[in-house]
Amino acid sequence: MELFKPLNLDKVIQNKEIENVENIKCLIIGSGPAGYTAAIYASRANLKPLLYTGLEMGGQLTTTTEVDNYPGYPAGVTGPVMMEDFKKQAERFGAEIRFGIVTDVDFSGKKYKVTIDDKKIIIADAVIIATGATAKYLGLESETKYAGMGVSACATCDGFFYKGKDVAVVGGGDTAAEEATYLAGLCRKVYLIVRRNELRASKVMQDKVIATKNIEILWEHQTIDLFGENGVEGVTLIKKKGTTNEEIVKIKIDGFFLAIGHKPNTDVFKKYIETDKVGYIKTVPGTSKTNIAGVFAAGDVQDPHYRQAITAAGSGCMAAIDAERYLSELK
Ligand SMILES: Cc1cc2nc3c(=O)[nH]c(=O)nc-3n(C[C@H](O)[C@H](O)[C@H](O)COP(=O)(O)OP(=O)(O)OC[C@H]3O[C@@H](n4cnc5c(N)ncnc54)[C@H](O)[C@@H]3O)c2cc1C
Repeated sequence: MELFKPLNLDKVIQNKEIENVENIKCLIIGSGPAGYTAAIYASRANLKPLLYTGLEMGGQLTTTTEVDNYPGYPAGVTGPVMMEDFKKQAERFGAEIRFGIVTDVDFSGKKYKVTIDDKKIIIADAVIIATGATAKYLGLESETKYAGMGVSACATCDGFFYKGKDVAVVGGGDTAAEEATYLAGLCRKVYLIVRRNELRASKVMQDKVIATKNIEILWEHQTIDLFGENGVEGVTLIKKKGTTNEEIVKIKIDGFFLAIGHKPNTDVFKKYIETDKVGYIKTVPGTSKTNIAGVFAAGDVQDPHYRQAITAAGSGCMAAIDAERYLSELK
């Protein structure tokens, strides 16, 4: 009789790994408007989608209190409520929604291998990437303190709240020029805070900014702090930093808009998926198709231009339809 049977660790580990491998039709990565909309369409097309939410369940909108421009909510809605509605609608048709972060991908084979939280493996026939793009901030403590109370990284989203008021925009590129011109149409005065003594924006955008009467460019200024009792009331700047003419300047404003760029959340996909120089996923125009057949991209992660909930949702719908067509051709 064998009294002691040593444990075959290799087998245990192998079995554990096998338990941790799941084969599915359609994987959706990200739980913003793009991911949830893709989940609604994919589940209704019987693709039995599995969606991983990432760290920010519900996406960027969960950080805002007022969404007034999403059709279907005539009285407006808070971001968290709206995203909960999206989630419920996807679940209603059978989409499975799990918390987890994609930590690695292998898109080299015919099926796509995606690692979740460094341990679980999903093998999917089609993948929809909807991981969004994160706005860059200056890194000031006061930006966090006044988040949603005068600090914004989206003029299209929040400009309306500053109608007739004075605001500042930080940045010197095309986005800053566009945001400043957009806000100039709504606000009384727009200060454009530019670190250098020139704009990086295209000549056309520069001309537009300069020709707009209520935009004042503050050349060679850098933001050091924001102040205010119950929200932003002003900004403290340093002018000509490091020169003999260095000077501290305080300006009264009601809103402070960051326009120093976004970081698309694509690092984990870059080994396989083509991106532009900023990191946005390149898609075939008019579709959600990436350079890899069966891998689709939707929402802000592939959109350097619009970055709105409605455009993200629209492209999530496109990605699910593209995935359904791809999968039906595989059969
Ligand atoms: C403060 C604020 C206010 C806004 N207000 C408005 C507004 O009023 N109206 C409007 O139309 N738009 C607004 N926007 C813009 C809008 O939020 C975005 O355009 C929209 O959320 C983009 O949707 P998305 O699905 O592409 O990505 P996101 O909403 O950014 O969602 C990305 C998702 O991907 C997940 N993710 C990222 N990396 C991984 C990973 N490795 N693994 C798994 N998951 C991952 C995240 O957890 C998240 O769930 C606002 C944005 C902000 C920041």
